[in-house]
Amino acid sequence: MPKIIDNHELLLKKLMEQPIGKKTILTSTFYPNKVVYNCGCGSTHAVNNPNLKIVGTALPVKFLLACEDGYTSFVQVTGFFIQKAESIWTCETKLFDDVMHKAKIMMDSFR
Ligand SMILES: [Zn+2]
Repeated sequence: MPKIIDNHELLLKKLMEQPIGKKTILTSTFYPNKVVYNCGCGSTHAVNNPNLKIVGTALPVKFLLACEDGYTSFVQVTGFFIQKAESIWTCETKLFDDVMHKAKIMMDSFR
């Protein structure tokens, strides 16, 4: 099981350690079906699963993926010939949205 983040402070810290950008038209999760990650919901998901929402990306090959069971995971794909995926952290999507919302309010207040 990956590390499940269950509090605002820790999630915010993780998000500041590794800035995550919005996905672009070049963002692709086109990987073989066997490239799967362990999600906080207790299942494993193929990175290429079309039901996953790509929330963001980071370099080199990291994706923030939200699954249908309410978890958002930060996933790194490694390897060139043999690729594999690994969750760096995972949290409830609700917690993620909450932190993003609060961070946005915080940013707006500096304008
Ligand atoms: Zn999941």
